[in-house]
Amino acid sequence: MLNFDILIKNANILTMNSQMNTFENGFIGIEKDKIVYLGIEKPEATSKTIIDAKNNIVMPGLINAHTHSGMTMFRGVADDLSLMNWLNNYIWPLEDKFVTEKNIKTASKLAIAEMILSGTTTFNDMYFFTGVTAENCKDIGMRAVLGEAVIDFPASVKKTSEEYFLEFINEYENDNLIIPSIVPHSPYSCSEGLLKRIKKLSDEKNLPVHIHISETTDEVKLIKEKTGMTPVEYLDSINFLNEKTVAVHCVHLTDNDMNILKNRNVGIVNSPESNLKLASGIAEVPKMIKKGLTVSLGTDGPASNNNLDMFEEMSLTVKIHKALNDDSTIMNAKEVLRMGTINGAKVIGIDNITGSLEIGKKADLIIIDINKPHLTPMYDPYSHLTYSANGSDVDTVIINGKIILKNRKFTNFDLDKVMLDIKHISNEIIAYKNNGMK
Ligand SMILES: [Zn+2]
Repeated sequence: MLNFDILIKNANILTMNSQMNTFENGFIGIEKDKIVYLGIEKPEATSKTIIDAKNNIVMPGLINAHTHSGMTMFRGVADDLSLMNWLNNYIWPLEDKFVTEKNIKTASKLAIAEMILSGTTTFNDMYFFTGVTAENCKDIGMRAVLGEAVIDFPASVKKTSEEYFLEFINEYENDNLIIPSIVPHSPYSCSEGLLKRIKKLSDEKNLPVHIHISETTDEVKLIKEKTGMTPVEYLDSINFLNEKTVAVHCVHLTDNDMNILKNRNVGIVNSPESNLKLASGIAEVPKMIKKGLTVSLGTDGPASNNNLDMFEEMSLTVKIHKALNDDSTIMNAKEVLRMGTINGAKVIGIDNITGSLEIGKKADLIIIDINKPHLTPMYDPYSHLTYSANGSDVDTVIINGKIILKNRKFTNFDLDKVMLDIKHISNEIIAYKNNGMK
């Protein structure tokens, strides 16, 4: 007789494995942090906890492959502006004043709560004071790839140093939830010397390198003027690109850029909502997929999206490319759900432990409540998840074998307190804004 910690029964299981296996009325057994049973046969087992999924959808947790979690405090603070006006006159001055360890502790906690409430079980983060974000993840039970944003461009935010992230990498090298990464902001905000030092460190420590690439036409122009090359060609010319590179945005790529990224096994993250809102453009996702690149999705920061709901990101992705290409078959629901799950895990280098429901993988999964008018009837779960569902349909979230959210209630975390704390920060931000940002 097997002995599970958690048994999920009556589940409509989408595994998102390479065969896209599904199980109707299936069972999932979890022991400690891992999936140990998966199938339609009732297991001969006892279990400490039994969850009746009531024929709801059970699938791998979503992977938000690019965000800036600490930016929840700037959600909606300035919208409908040109990118440079938004950055120079709002975001950078606000970051200079309000990005403190104490504020990030609150802001990233809110982000983690928001992500879990909308079905994300792993996020790949680029921001500041990574140490407190890591503490939040540990306290709440969230999986994350975390790195301290590094720039040597003379921008207003320069509160951390390479020493800071080295310390962080050493502290979390063998953690069960946190994977340290190195996070140069972009090829235009980091010098060649810095990029080379980062690549060396990544090679030595086998760490992912998370970087924005070719987000805007201005960025491409700037690098071309400086080097005569596109950002991708330039990074390749300094031997920066490899399978550890997580290339974010990739909105403005040439065919040659795509070939380079494919040859170097670089994983792609696209953030269409942010790209649309900031008028950065639309990445050629179907073309990248056709060329064999692995493309995943991220929400980007909550100041340019303005939420962290991956369901919106998936739905939008598939629709914009249909419309843009005048071809409603160019992308489909299954494909975009892979982008939101297993592809995210592949791109950030953790598909050996998460991203699909498979025996031996970590138990990172979500239960979607389909007993709702907008999800009734259900002919095809992939269609529902892409075109009908939203983040608030997520009922239960299990990460690393622990039930973090049950019936949309956190099991170990005071959401009201965080909401109150963020309100205090926003009051300070309002006062600062009203005083002419002085
Ligand atoms: Zn970003």
